[in-house]
Amino acid sequence: MSQEKKGRLAGKVTLITGGASGVGREDALLFAGEGARVVITDVNEEDGRALAGEIGDNALFLRHDITREDDWQRVMAATVEHFGRLDVLVNNAGILMPSALEDTSLELWRKIQTVNVEGYFLGCKHAVREMKKTGGGSIVNMSSLAGLAGMAMFPAYCASKHAVVGLSRSVAAYCKTKGYNIRSNTVHPDGINTPMVAAMVNHMDLLSQVTSRNPDMPRSTDPINIANVVLFLASDESQFVNGAELRVDNAFLSSGD
Ligand code: NAD
Repeated sequence: MSQEKKGRLAGKVTLITGGASGVGREDALLFAGEGARVVITDVNEEDGRALAGEIGDNALFLRHDITREDDWQRVMAATVEHFGRLDVLVNNAGILMPSALEDTSLELWRKIQTVNVEGYFLGCKHAVREMKKTGGGSIVNMSSLAGLAGMAMFPAYCASKHAVVGLSRSVAAYCKTKGYNIRSNTVHPDGINTPMVAAMVNHMDLLSQVTSRNPDMPRSTDPINIANVVLFLASDESQFVNGAELRVDNAFLSSGD
């Protein structure tokens, strides 16, 4: 029998959506290093499988489109079959497409809401059903600074990330009322150096919106600085933090730069 690892998530079974890339990938590596068993899910099979292989026996990759309820049912069943339970869900997968209000088609609007809102709703619903069976857990929902402020070129994304706040608070309220011992919180980063932001290099006008004029106050940071916050919310160290919004923006919203 393999020896149980020690760490801030020792013994916990965690599931990270969008775990093949960017922040989700960093979460998976950090969680595994802190003793968690990690289920990495994504539509990107190649990178997800490679990451699970890199981590080893404490990781499992599952192909998963978060917009499909049958995928969520399959992923929950496979998680419990493989690791026995679910303690932590990180609703992390997301999409970002810039488009000004007057140019945004209903199709694009719906595409972004389907992944960033419906996918998170399904995750919360199925995670709560599973976690309540084993005495509770923690749900971490990736919102954004765009979930707390308006952004001229991202109306659909901003609306989706605001919706995540309402969902997360409601999950926290519901689980508290039911006595499930399941916490739900949102994380609100500003620019993170990930493929999502790199994909915007063709939109230099947009990139300038996430670049600080003040070199002492960078507006973008590496994924590890977000993963450390996700780790805190996933762990029992945050056991009295529930229904909260945690901003990780180096005071951008406070200072305007
Ligand atoms: P990323 O593009 O590097 O990773 C996102 C992952 O989600 C990808 O692996 C992608 O394949 C996966 N994905 C997309 N649609 C999916 C679906 N339907 N089902 C399953 N997986 C799907 O992005 P990132 O920068 O690491 O972003 C992670 C989260 O952080 C997102 O929710 C994003 O909105 C949020 N966020 C990012 C930034 C930033 O600056 N990068 C800032 C604030 C918030």
